[in-house]
Amino acid sequence: MSVTVVNPATEKAIAKLERDGVEETDAAVARAKAAFPGWRAVSPQDRARLLRRLATLVEEHGDELARIESQNVGKPISGAGGEVEMVAQVFHYYAGAVDKHLGETIPVAGGVDLTFREPLGVVGLIVPWNFPLNIASWKLGPALACGNTAVLKPAELTPLSALRLGELCVEAGIPEGVVNVVVGKGSTVGQRLVEHPDVAKIGFTGSTEVGREVMRGAAGTIKRVTLELGGKSANIVFADADLERAAASAPYAVFDNAGQDCCARSRILVERPVYERFLDLLVDATRRVKVGDPADAATEMGPLISAAHRETVASFVEGEPLFRGDVPEAKGFWFPCTIVEANPGDRVARDEVFGPVAAVIPFDDEAEAIGIANDSPYGLSGSIWTRDGARALRVARAVESGVLSVNSNSSVRAHTPFGGMKQSGFGRELGMHGLNGYSEVKNVFISTEA
Ligand code: NAD
Repeated sequence: MSVTVVNPATEKAIAKLERDGVEETDAAVARAKAAFPGWRAVSPQDRARLLRRLATLVEEHGDELARIESQNVGKPISGAGGEVEMVAQVFHYYAGAVDKHLGETIPVAGGVDLTFREPLGVVGLIVPWNFPLNIASWKLGPALACGNTAVLKPAELTPLSALRLGELCVEAGIPEGVVNVVVGKGSTVGQRLVEHPDVAKIGFTGSTEVGREVMRGAAGTIKRVTLELGGKSANIVFADADLERAAASAPYAVFDNAGQDCCARSRILVERPVYERFLDLLVDATRRVKVGDPADAATEMGPLISAAHRETVASFVEGEPLFRGDVPEAKGFWFPCTIVEANPGDRVARDEVFGPVAAVIPFDDEAEAIGIANDSPYGLSGSIWTRDGARALRVARAVESGVLSVNSNSSVRAHTPFGGMKQSGFGRELGMHGLNGYSEVKNVFISTEA
C-alpha cells in the first residue's frame, strides 16, 4: 500500500511513499529500544553538541524545508520560513537545556537525599498536519535532550518534512535508531505506538477526539501521555483598547495558516460600546489579507489541507456572513476569509472550525466577557486587549486557558511553556517545562549513619 502526498494549492500529487503498518512500527520501536542505552550514555556536552549541530543543519536547509512544508501543507512560503526558523530555535534551546535540567538535594535526617531526572526510554511522538515540522521539533527537542529515543509519526497527509528532518538528524551525527520516522495511518501506526509495551510515553498533538482515544489506549500499559488538543480561543476586546491595533491584528489571529491553528482566536468578543466601530475596522483589515499562491512571498493565506476538510469548514457558515473574502479560481482547496456575527451558543462559536471563519460576539462587561470565554470545553489560548493593566491581569487570571497574551495575539515561543487546560489537553511543551514531560524524577536516599 502506498501514500500519495498532495499539494493542497494545486491538488497535484507531489510524492508517493510506502505506507508503513504495524510491522514497520514494531521494527522502528525495536530500533529505538536498541539505541536507547547508547544515547542515554552520551555525555551531556556531546548530546548538546549534536542537538546544536541539528539546529544549524535546519538553518542551513531552511529554504528547502520551508519549500517542502509550503508545498505539502499549502502554507504561504513566508510563514513556512518563519516556522522553520522556530524549529532551529527549538533545537538550539534544548541543546542549551541539556546540562541545566538539574536535580535537587533535599534536607533529610540521617543522610543525603538526591533527585535525578531520568529519561523515559522510547517515546512515541504523534503530530498533526497543520504545523508538521514545528510540532515535531517541540517534542523531539526535549525528548532527545533528556536522553530518550523516539519514533515520530507525522500525519499521513503531511509526512515530507518529518522524513527530511529524520535524515538531518543522522547527518548531524545523532546515532542511527535514535530518531525513527514512520509514515502511516493513525489507526494502525499511531494506535500501535499508543499500545506498544516498549513505548514509555506518547507525546500527542491533534484533535480532542483522537486525544481521548490515545488516553484510553495508553491505560493498558500505564503509559505517560502529553496531550496538546483542540481549542476555541477567545480574543477579548475591551472598549478602552487600542482598537486600531486590535483590529489590524485580529484577522491574522484567525486566518493565519488558513485558520488551521489550535490557537486560532476564532471567537472575537467585543465590548458593546465599540462593537460597530470594531467590526468596521475588522472587515477593513480582513479585506487586506492576501490570499493566493503559497509560493508567492507576498501571500498571507493559502488553501485548506483537503477537499474533505473544506466541506467540514463550509458546514459552519449558515446564511449570509458579515464578510466573505475572495479566493483564487484555480484548482486548490480554497476557502475565503469569513466573518460571522454569532451568539455564544451557536455551533460556529462553540466548536473548533479549524478554518478561516471568525465568530464575532458582543458583550456588556468584564464579568460577561469572562463568562463567555470560559463557557467552552476547551482552554488553550486567547487574548485580552485593554489599556487598563489591572483589568488585563484580572482577566488573564480568570480565563481558563493555558496560554494568554495581552495586547498581542502571540502564543508560542521556544523558551516559554505552551499547552492547554480543560479538554485542550495537559502537559506543557517548550521552555524548561517541556523537559518535565520527557523525564521522570528518581529519588535516592543515601544513609550517612556511621
Ligand atoms: P488528528 O487528531 O486527526 O490526528 C493527529 C495525529 O494523530 C495524526 O498523526 C493522526 O494520524 C494520528 N492519529 C489518528 N488516529 C489515531 C489513533 N487512533 N491513535 C493514535 N494516533 C492517531 O488531528 P489533525 O486533524 O491531524 O490535526 C488537527 C487537530 O490538532 C485540531 O483539533 C487542532 O486543534 C489540533 N492541534 C492542537 C495543537 C496544540 O498544540 N494544542 C496544535 C496543533 C493542532
